Amino acid sequence: MLSIVLCSLLSTAVASALDRKQVKLSKIFHQTRSAHDVHKNIQAGGVTLVFSDDLVINQLPVTSSKKTRLCFFVPDGRLQLALTSMREIKSPQDNAYTVRISEVNTPKSGLQLDIEYDPDRVVFARDMFQRVTREHKLVFYFYDKQLLDTMKTKTEVPMIVHAALDPSVVIDCGHGGHDFGVIGCERIAEKNVCLAVGRKVAEGLKKKGIRVFLTRDSDTYVSLDNRIHEVNTINPCLLVSIHANASNDKNVSGIETFYFNRSLCSMQKKISNDTNSIGSAIDMHQKELTTKSKQLAQAMQEVVCKEVADSGAIQVVDRKVKAEPLQLLMGAMVPASLIEIGFLTNTQEAKLLLQDNYQLRVANGICKGIINSM
Ligand SMILES: [Zn+2]
Repeated sequence: MLSIVLCSLLSTAVASALDRKQVKLSKIFHQTRSAHDVHKNIQAGGVTLVFSDDLVINQLPVTSSKKTRLCFFVPDGRLQLALTSMREIKSPQDNAYTVRISEVNTPKSGLQLDIEYDPDRVVFARDMFQRVTREHKLVFYFYDKQLLDTMKTKTEVPMIVHAALDPSVVIDCGHGGHDFGVIGCERIAEKNVCLAVGRKVAEGLKKKGIRVFLTRDSDTYVSLDNRIHEVNTINPCLLVSIHANASNDKNVSGIETFYFNRSLCSMQKKISNDTNSIGSAIDMHQKELTTKSKQLAQAMQEVVCKEVADSGAIQVVDRKVKAEPLQLLMGAMVPASLIEIGFLTNTQEAKLLLQDNYQLRVANGICKGIINSM
């Protein structure tokens, strides 16, 4: 099942009347670029703030200083993360940017978001995303100024470049350890199905000479943050996440694949100190990530459905490709998609997903989809 509901770190056992008016910041996620990608990935870093509800964001004036400072205010915002009232997030490799989040009570109660960055090194952009679950994501992006400047002169060159002779893929087997994912018919745990299929995908890709990394290769728990960190450190050509689905209606079955559409999901986009060329270079990079992620999702969806239909084991339901701002897909700085290989709450599909032969068919479909979109 999708990991779309991010767990809040503090339980809210008793919500007072006052609490209900507040907009809770339930999760902070910092994406960073690995040291060896400094000259490849234009996104130097990103900070995602996940709020429980609709939020208003106001920009406040700040006094001038050497670095560029921006200050935003979320009225009635509150940290739900820990007992500390302040969080600081710094760029890991240098002091290119810092984001400070603090609760303030005067003159108005809310969250103050202070951003400081070196305009010679990074370009700042912000964006907001919304989901049907009412979860709201505010994202601060920090782009590599030097790389953007280089691209201004040669924007026809694709920005996501990988050596064709050394293709690599990260396979993310959903859940693991104490995180069982969906518990389906006859107590089938999603984590086991994801791992079995993921391993088969990895084997298939290795046979084709592709370097493969698994975010987990055993029944262990790896947090989403750590998975994303690993993906961005490895910096593969593609990321594929494998999950199995659930529904309250046991008749629901089928296969669906997700990707993150950076433009469709966006509610507003603000790029600071943008000359048109820098703004369009960032747009191009985002579009390229979206296009490649969608291609990957479509290729996998198509081939997996075909492989499963060819098996004759089930009348496959093609639930199509969908765009969703899922944390893993948002956090990965490479083309990425997430496939839900069937419903464990559907008796027929659950039984098939336990069978080695059927898992192999699904895995073959995923492999072919990956290879087709590389
Ligand atoms: Zn799942």
